[in-house]
Order: sequence, then C-alpha cells, then structure tokens
Amino acid sequence: MNQPLILIIEDEESLRRFLVPTLSGQRYQVLSAATAAEGLAMARSHNPDLVLLDLGLPDRDGMAVLKELRTWSRKPVVILSARNQERDKVRALDQGADDYLAKPFGAAELLARIRVALRHILQADLADPVVHGGGIRIDLEQREVRLEGRPVKLTGLEYRLLEALVRRNGKVATHSQLLSEVWGPGGEGNTHYLRIYMAMLRKKLEADPTRPRHFITEPSVGYRLNLDARED
Ligand code: CA
Repeated sequence: MNQPLILIIEDEESLRRFLVPTLSGQRYQVLSAATAAEGLAMARSHNPDLVLLDLGLPDRDGMAVLKELRTWSRKPVVILSARNQERDKVRALDQGADDYLAKPFGAAELLARIRVALRHILQADLADPVVHGGGIRIDLEQREVRLEGRPVKLTGLEYRLLEALVRRNGKVATHSQLLSEVWGPGGEGNTHYLRIYMAMLRKKLEADPTRPRHFITEPSVGYRLNLDARED
C-alpha cells in the first residue's frame, strides 16, 4: 500500500521539528512549509492526501489558505490552533476544515486525528451503511440503532442528530453544522436544542451518561462521536 502524503503548513520551527519525525516514523510521507505561499505552492505541486494547517502564518491568514485549498481540493485539512483562537477554529471548521488539534498536543492525539481524517476519505460515502463500536450498532439504511444487541428507540430528531454525527466518521461537527443539518437553515441559533438532544442520546446510548465515552463534547466547538472508545 502506498504511503499517504501529509503536508504541514506551520511557521513554528519547533513544532515542525516535532511533527516531521513523528509522522515520518509512522507510515506517512511528509512535506513541510513555513509560510502560506510556500504551503499553497507545495499543495498544488504535490496534491497531498492531508494538510496540517496552522492558522497563524506570517504572510497570510491560515483561513485564506483554507479557502484557497477548498477551491480545488476536498482532501482533509486538520487545523493546528492555539488556545486563543477558539473562534477562528470554529470558523475554519464551518468553512470546510475537517478537524482541529489544539496546541499543545501530543503524538498519540495527532496520529489518532490523522487516522480519522484519512479514514474519512477512504469511506467518503460510507459505503457500508452499518457502523458499530463500543456496543453500539447503527444501521443507516434500516435506520436502526442497537445497544448491546437490543434495539434502541430514538425520536426523529434524536436519530437525525445521531446520523449527522455518524456521517462525520469520528470527526468533530460544529454546533452550527449540526443545527443546520438537523433543524434546517433556520435552526442555527438554537444551541440549547443540541445540549438537550445530546443529553437524550447519551442517556439512551452511553453506559454512564454523566461520563460519556462516545458522545464527546468539544468545548465551545461542537461534538464528535467516537465509537472506537473501549468499554472497561
Ligand atoms: Ca503560527
């Protein structure tokens, strides 16, 4: 199998010195750029399978790089964001970034996010309508949900929210993405609906709804569904 090519666009040299060997040590080919201009040129010439994109670049805003990438590429973009860039992070996700890593992050977290983002392109259209993990089984074709083999009854909105998360395939979904997908274009201001319906999904599908393993809150960003979490 050929090795996926990852392009890192990050001006912080110390971070590149961590990222390049960490990724090369796995099964990835790695390219890195320190400026937006260099990064965009490399993206065009090498068409990487995934881009790790810093939002704070010296020559152009990372958001502008994302917009330009998205004019010709649907490949996954994972944002590298500093703690004070909460709003930019959400904007980047709403504008087509696939996921984000908040600095500082460790190697395990980095590699997990990359695996999820790359898995997403392999299963872009969810060829298999059945997903399962952690005792939960969701059949998108039959619209059937089971927990430990037993059918779970969901309301229409609960199911739509679950489906929107499943289709993200482990990636984060922002509040506004979920609200518009589940409640329609008019629903984007109603963040409290999400909290209510997420609580109902957790109650029905988590072993301990107060310590969710699968329906993960990403503070001030949104939610992700992690079916790989192990039960213990
Ligand atoms: Ca930076």
